[in-house]
Amino acid sequence: MSSEMLPVTDFIREIIDKDIKNNRYGGRVATRFPPEPNGYLHIGHAKSVCLNFGIAMQYRGTCNLRLDDTDPAGESMEYVESIINDVHWLGFDWEDRLYYASNYFEKLYEFAVRLIKKGKAYVCDLSTDEIKEYRGTLTSPGKESPYRNRSVEENLDLFARMRAGEFEDGSRVLRAKIDMSSPNITMRDPVIYRIKREPHYRTGKTWVIYPMYDFAHCLSDAIEHITHSICTLEFENNRPLYDWIVNELIEEGDRPRQIEFARLNLSYTILSKRRLIELVEKGYVTGWDDPRMPTIAGMRRRGYTPEAIRTFCNRIGVAKKDNLVDIALLEACVRDDLNEHAPRVMAVLKPLKLVIDNYPDGKVEEIECANHPQNPAMGTRKVPLSKILYIEQDDFHEYPPKKYKRLAPGRKVRLRNAYVIKFADMVRDDKTGKILEVHCTYEPESKDSLKSDKRNVEGVIHWVSAEHAIPAEVRLYDRLFQVPDPAGMDDDFSKYLNPKSLEILTLCFVEPCLQKAAQGSRYQFERLGYFCVDLKDSSPLKPVFNRIVSLRDTWAKGASHS
Ligand code: ATP
Ligand code: MG
Repeated sequence: MSSEMLPVTDFIREIIDKDIKNNRYGGRVATRFPPEPNGYLHIGHAKSVCLNFGIAMQYRGTCNLRLDDTDPAGESMEYVESIINDVHWLGFDWEDRLYYASNYFEKLYEFAVRLIKKGKAYVCDLSTDEIKEYRGTLTSPGKESPYRNRSVEENLDLFARMRAGEFEDGSRVLRAKIDMSSPNITMRDPVIYRIKREPHYRTGKTWVIYPMYDFAHCLSDAIEHITHSICTLEFENNRPLYDWIVNELIEEGDRPRQIEFARLNLSYTILSKRRLIELVEKGYVTGWDDPRMPTIAGMRRRGYTPEAIRTFCNRIGVAKKDNLVDIALLEACVRDDLNEHAPRVMAVLKPLKLVIDNYPDGKVEEIECANHPQNPAMGTRKVPLSKILYIEQDDFHEYPPKKYKRLAPGRKVRLRNAYVIKFADMVRDDKTGKILEVHCTYEPESKDSLKSDKRNVEGVIHWVSAEHAIPAEVRLYDRLFQVPDPAGMDDDFSKYLNPKSLEILTLCFVEPCLQKAAQGSRYQFERLGYFCVDLKDSSPLKPVFNRIVSLRDTWAKGASHS
């Protein structure tokens, strides 16, 4: 078990500890992660994945992956495949326990029949609006349906005919017979089955009735012998119904218990599937795996590591009250992980030609560079240096502002890992005044004094050899939203999108060693940030790099958003 998976404790684990002590499930711990395949998983789901699988690992129990696919609307195989892929990528394994709630349709139907036989469920002919009206409010009790006292025989007959497709969509429902005057509205004879003629991506047209979430979920848990059914806070009011159903239908000792925790909300981010779908469908992003999306697929393509995401999920912990987590914390986890593991290379994003006048024409030196200055075990590589280099436009300034620690007329800087150079001249475009090239001279003996002598240089700048560098495209990604709480704003979230969330630079140059860099591999571009080879668009002919994160939190107070 790696460090980020070390056991922590929280109120959920305390409940489990108590259950184990009281031998409630014979000491067994069985959890599940139950996504509905109607969208891609996002960082909020990752929190639930880490929690459920993490608990199973810690208690030597099991965690199932269950596709909670009881509502045909919007569900698809594409989503199932993405979920399977993403949970694996996050580092978790359900072994042979991949389940589908839709596999339980027959069993769930039988459970409903048993409820009817116990006199605890009835077919109701009220319309949706009438059911709502009869339900009452928080301050007034509900009214009993005129169909509430149908005989068991009549209910069995009607329910069978609902299944057989004899009735129109919406004309009848099956309801649990609980208590129309319960202070908890969820308990006022909730609907547990409805008629819906919509083909299901797995069962096709076999079924025209579908169980409601509250009925299907707890019984799916029971079928799988789940002990602790962990879900988010919005289900707190549904817990009495969860308990009612399992108490009616499941043997004592096999009854799972529901525990709620606060869902993850992340600043500058939207985590509602409905809205994420909208972002994709309206083309605000290029797809579910757009590197700006808070989806696992997007974060993977952005270059986030599964380790960093797990560390983040463990650091935020679980609480019983909703809050908003600062996205800077996630970015810091990503940065820490990359700082430790990403090899350093040099890349120039906005090139400016630099000629070393006194460097011999045609000479090429292989400069040995450390792949990680703090970790010699990561080895070294050779980087070619020659007379003509590219440096960053930002690293030269004709009229340097105060505190500018780079190249300028009259100044010396060190080329990273190599020589000290001194400004000599510059070439300007007569029409625009733009600087086209900078000329310098180098101090041939300065390379050997890399560590010892500072040689009065203003600073250190990175570079690539013009003749040897590989042209590349670099995509500078930034936060998708420019307000801290886009989810809490009005519905038209498009006006809160960050117009600078993507800047594409097509004329960049990277070190030759990156020509063959594998898709998905991650690097620190020295002085610039962390970058990864794009999983989709990059090829050796045209390498494409995504910025994962900047070197520092550029959104912190006072820093500029660049
Ligand atoms: P929907 O609104 O479509 O139900 P959902 O985000 O709840 O969307 P599910 O597929 O039902 O999606 O979620 C699967 C599991 O992930 C559930 O157990 C849910 O509680 C959990 N989950 C979803 N969003 C978050 C979140 N932001 N933080 C923590 N857990 C979450
Ligand atoms: Mg849900």
